[in-house]
This record gives sequence, C-alpha cells and structure tokens, in this order.
Amino acid sequence: MDSIRVHKSMYELIRRTCTELPADILKAMNHAHHDELPGSIAQETLGIILESASLSHEKALPLCQDTGALLAIIQSRPGKGLFIVEEAIVEAVKGLTREGILRQNCVDPLTERNTGDNTGAHVPQVHFEPAGGPVRVSVMLKGGGSENMSTQYSLPSALIAAGRDLDGVRRCILDSVYQAQGQGCSPGILGVCIGGDRASGYLLAKRQLFRHLEDVNPVPVLASMEETILQEANGLGLGPMGLGGRTTLLGCKIGTAGRHPASYFVTVSYSCWATRRYCVELDGKGGIRKWI
Ligand code: SF4
Repeated sequence: MDSIRVHKSMYELIRRTCTELPADILKAMNHAHHDELPGSIAQETLGIILESASLSHEKALPLCQDTGALLAIIQSRPGKGLFIVEEAIVEAVKGLTREGILRQNCVDPLTERNTGDNTGAHVPQVHFEPAGGPVRVSVMLKGGGSENMSTQYSLPSALIAAGRDLDGVRRCILDSVYQAQGQGCSPGILGVCIGGDRASGYLLAKRQLFRHLEDVNPVPVLASMEETILQEANGLGLGPMGLGGRTTLLGCKIGTAGRHPASYFVTVSYSCWATRRYCVELDGKGGIRKWI
C-alpha cells in the first residue's frame, strides 16, 4: 500500500463523514419532516436541521459543532497494511483538527487539558478485524451528547418491571428513549446489543449503528422487535429535540451476543440525528475503490 494514497483516502473518508449526512439518514429525516403536522414545532425543527445539513454538505462544513469522537474499524487480512491505515487515520484526524473541520474533542481526564489535536490515550479508537477480501475501513463520529444518553441495563430490573426475556428487553429499550426525553438531539437512532458482557455490549451496540436504516434484520424476531420499538418509541410523543411530535426515533437496530448464565445485559447505544458514519473499500494501493 502506498502511504500517501492511504492518507488521502482516510482524510477524505473522515472529512466526508463529518460534513455529509449519510443518504439513508437524510431520506429518513425528509420522511419525518413530511410526516409531522404542518406548521408544528416538530416540523419546523426538522426543517431547520435539514437546512443546516444541506448547508454543511454544500460548504463542506461540519454537520454539527460537536464533531464527536471517532471510532474506526479496519477489516483486512493481518499484515503491515493495517498499521499504515491506522497511522493514516491518526494523521488525517490531526490534519482535519488543524483545519477546524474536527473540533478539539479529546481531554486528558487527569490534567483536564485538551490535547488539542483529537489524539490521546485510546483516541482515536481504532479496531482491527481480520477479514478476507479488500481492505474496508468504517468510520463513525459520535457526538458526546448522544453518547451520554447511551445506557446499559442488567436484567431482571424491578424498576422497570423487566424480566429476562424479550419483553424485558423491549422495556429496557423503550425506557432508554423515555429517560432521554429527546436529549442527545432526537430524532435518534438506537444500536442495541442483547447479551454480551458490560464491555462487549457497548461496542456491539455501537456497531449496530453502522447498519443502513433500511436494512432488515435477518433474524425475524429481531426484525419484528426493531419495528415494534420504532412504532412504540414514536408513539411516546417526545419528538425532535424533545419538543413534542411524531418523530422520536429514525431507527432501531438490534444484535445479540452470547451471555454468561448469571448475566443478562441490554445495552443501548443512543445516536443523534447527526449519525455520521461511512465505510470505504480500498484498492491495492490504498485509494478509495468504492463507498459502501
Ligand atoms: S448529540 Fe449529536 S447533534 Fe447533538 S450536539 Fe452532539 S453531535 Fe451534535
């Protein structure tokens, strides 16, 4: 792989992720805008967000002032190429921060100093995943406000009358939406993991957010739950930014992980309307072969 080409590819991947709302989310936002009552605050709020997103795209400016925290997943055969891609991601993050496309979002928790270039211990977060075929890089920029609304339940929970079954899972997910009350900049998208441990639950829930909004879960019971949650959450009336309305969620994506017999975690990764994620496939030299 040619490191200059890889750098250019990672720069373009992160720049686009920061400034262009993915097509599926834009489409869902347009539908939501159309579905809200004419003249309502909900419709006006969605209209402002859509106008802002269009300006960001047109002028290549960040979709939101909070450019979020970066998660990257590199899928590739093991080898030196992986490290070239990781290095390119870090350099692209530094460069885009210098240019003001990415806000300085990394604070050292001990000194409370902002590192100034969006890098620090475990930042940006880069994960490697062995896979055959061409190298694929997925990037997500997740806002701090929405991350604050992410949560994890341990079942059973007397507080929300949730047992260790699928109805208990449904109660957890709806409770997370209700507790958020539109904070974290709704309409939101939920990534959910049923099972796993406390650490894997959060990561796998977040990974569900990479799924296309229109994609249908291949597991029928999960597909049905995704649809039910969407309908029921939107029936809560919280609406865009919690100001009331029909659109509280744009999507809900659910996956599972094996659990320890003693534990039953339900983890919800809450993401705002500005769910910024793109994935590219690289050619042999590190150029972008296609956007996925
Ligand atoms: S939650 Fe999302 S839309 Fe709201 S400020 Fe953070 S990044 Fe921006």
